[in-house]
Amino acid sequence: MGRPPALLLVLLLLVPALWPSDRAAAQSAQYRQTAAVLAHYPPIAAMQLDSPAFRSPEPSLTRQEAMMEFLAALARESGQARLGSLGRSTEGRDIPVLYLSAEGLSDPVAIRTLGRPVIWLIGQQHGNEPAGGEAMLALASALAKGELAPLLSRITVVIVPRANVDGAAADRRTLTSGADANRDHLLLSQPEVRLLHQAMRALPPDVVFDHHEFSVGWRWVEKFNGLQGSDVMILEATNPSIPKGLSDIARGVYRPALESAIAKQGLSSFDYVTTDARKSDRRVSLGGTAPGIARNTFGLRGAVSYLIETRGIGIGLQSYQRRVSTHFLLAKAALEVSAADPDGLRHRLTEARADTAAGRDDLIVSHEEGEREIDLPLIDAESGAPMPTPVRLVDSRDIRPVDVRARPAGYLVLRGMAGVAERLGLNEVTMREVAVPVTQPVEAYEVAWTGSRKRREAINPDQSVRVQISRKTIAVPAGTLFVPMAQPAAGIVAAALEPDSPGSYVGVGVIPMATDETEAPVYRVMDASALTLSDRDLHRENR
Ligand SMILES: [Zn+2]
Repeated sequence: MGRPPALLLVLLLLVPALWPSDRAAAQSAQYRQTAAVLAHYPPIAAMQLDSPAFRSPEPSLTRQEAMMEFLAALARESGQARLGSLGRSTEGRDIPVLYLSAEGLSDPVAIRTLGRPVIWLIGQQHGNEPAGGEAMLALASALAKGELAPLLSRITVVIVPRANVDGAAADRRTLTSGADANRDHLLLSQPEVRLLHQAMRALPPDVVFDHHEFSVGWRWVEKFNGLQGSDVMILEATNPSIPKGLSDIARGVYRPALESAIAKQGLSSFDYVTTDARKSDRRVSLGGTAPGIARNTFGLRGAVSYLIETRGIGIGLQSYQRRVSTHFLLAKAALEVSAADPDGLRHRLTEARADTAAGRDDLIVSHEEGEREIDLPLIDAESGAPMPTPVRLVDSRDIRPVDVRARPAGYLVLRGMAGVAERLGLNEVTMREVAVPVTQPVEAYEVAWTGSRKRREAINPDQSVRVQISRKTIAVPAGTLFVPMAQPAAGIVAAALEPDSPGSYVGVGVIPMATDETEAPVYRVMDASALTLSDRDLHRENR
């Protein structure tokens, strides 16, 4: 198969928007739950949500202007909240960000010197999933002047209530370009996603909660003749290179806090699962392992990372108070457990990142996932009665390595350096330039193109190249980019630079190759001791 054009990187992101299954998803936007089903999802009476949607008896979608007014008022009335902007969206809307600290700081450098855990809460990367975004507004109020304000002497909170403002205005999943923002966090091809990462580079997250909603009817009805019943689905970062220390914190500290918050309100929860468009494939997948999914990218760059999804897509504003409350309660639980022992959390995070930087384990470049039988907690579409349905689960926590190779000291990038450095820098990767020309033993990649993924399930894009590795010696000019692996974001580095890693920079054309070339212009360096590197940290320079 011929080499895909560089534009592939854009097409990869656009394909999901054009795929037939999304037309099905759009149709299910009219899905009307029966009164009997709705009765299972009443409002949570104890919750008083202070956000624009709940200022009238009947909740409504919060328009951009109302959101901006609400946030500006919070910043005026509270000494703890400062309103900033990530920048402008493709259609020119402001993408607001709220910085919440006891001192009312907005300067990232000043906030970092506080030494408190930095928790990022992100809503509405998908514009048609409003409950997470609305909950962010209610949380902002509770932190700025309400019940959660005392937490800010122990943690700092950054809220991006509406990461995809254009999509929200159109009640549409994707960005204006048609791309899926949630899949673009390694490639960083979309302006809105880059803006988010610019702000994150200035104030790197220790913990990220990413708030979404899932489809209630959709393929669940088509395939299994039932509705998704869980109030909320939850998943930590799942990629083979997620630092173990971070997964341990996610599963051992955050998950129990989330489950406890869920249980207290009588809500139901499940691991986040999805299912393929093909009707014949009755398997269900735990959320994917692709490094470019926000949840995974945040983990790979060194944060504890969680996805929170409520039952919401396709049912309009049905059960809206319950959905928004669920997001609120889970984010609140995350903030409270972060604030319970902030020094201990920082210590464990520092250790996890140091372990990653010192890691010697082999890289898992590609993998398969184990499968097992589970009962999926569906409900009867008419009565809402529980309808536990046996399915085969493709388990992204159960990794079976396929392509494994020794961890290099780092990578030399001889082409596309500016694009690589700019993208990696946004994901907290440190880089250097080769200062003195040198003849260097390396491992080279012989590349064979195998095509790109065919299915909508961009959660695990196929590898687009296969490689054969050979040892050789190359002339390395001064100015060549060297990306070391001895750093906390090593998982980002390997995901981007091993050419056969799904979504790699060779695979998507960020590192371009001519049609008649077979050797990738990126090399593995197993022993970097002969390299003379400049003092310039390109990551810092790109700030
Ligand atoms: Zn979503």
